[in-house]
Amino acid sequence: MSGLLDAALDYAGRGIPVYPVHWPRPTPGVAILGCSCRRGTACDRPAKHPLVRHGLHDATTKPAQLERWWSRWPAANLGLATGVVFDALDVDGPAGLAALRKLAGAASLRLPGPLVATGGGGWHYWFRPTGLGNRPPRGLDHVDWRGRGGCVLAPPSRHARGGHYRWLVSLDQAPLPGAPAALRALLDPDQPTTTRPARPAGPGAPAAPGHPYGRTVLAAELAALGRATPGHRNRTLNQTAFKVYRYVAGGLLDEEDVTAAFSEAALAIGLEAAEVARTLASARTAGLANPRTVPAGLDPSSQEAGA
Ligand SMILES: [Zn+2]
Repeated sequence: MSGLLDAALDYAGRGIPVYPVHWPRPTPGVAILGCSCRRGTACDRPAKHPLVRHGLHDATTKPAQLERWWSRWPAANLGLATGVVFDALDVDGPAGLAALRKLAGAASLRLPGPLVATGGGGWHYWFRPTGLGNRPPRGLDHVDWRGRGGCVLAPPSRHARGGHYRWLVSLDQAPLPGAPAALRALLDPDQPTTTRPARPAGPGAPAAPGHPYGRTVLAAELAALGRATPGHRNRTLNQTAFKVYRYVAGGLLDEEDVTAAFSEAALAIGLEAAEVARTLASARTAGLANPRTVPAGLDPSSQEAGA
């Protein structure tokens, strides 16, 4: 079962928060697979609901926590929080695929990015985060969007129907594409906007966590990364993230928020996911070993406490 833990650590290394989910378990004398929860074959969401109390809100990129979870539940399925490093288009079986093909035919829609077969007969197309929450695309039956506050199961999780979630196009084979405009238009609430303003901080915004000084540093370094020119992007990612992780070590910022914010920003300027994960891991190690805190005389926290 180490494949599940290895996969969890790989997702976390890419900045994707992971949490453990129940798994399909054979029941003596029963042909179908039950759920690993107490309800067994009577479970109404077999092998799809979380093992931890707060579900996807407990999702983490911290390796030590993932090792604890998968040592306690070695067969646990992998739940990933969407809306941080990626959003997913959830296509539920042939009916969903037919609806999607119709849209693709009408709008010259191409879906060139990472793709998962779910093990239950559906597909997940992965995209860069849109900032949108979970919602069905208007007019597309049997198709759903998983964004902020959402989750998907990921390879190599097992489906209660017996199949495995598996990559048809892996994260190393294709970069995360932006959501195509034709699809985006079906997701936006009212107006057909296809872009949104860049957020200064990560997925925590607008109620960004962390010390005000830490948030200022994070915003400045993300802005510097956004200005990096081709040929300098990976080095700039390393330099800017290193600076910010030093303030994580100093207790001013949350590590997961910083990782998520830099992952999103780095993918947005065109860096490749595996490269981003490697560079961030290196910057994190170096930064966490060199803590910094608010410079003397510059501590605004007393004024802003409770603000
Ligand atoms: Zn269950």
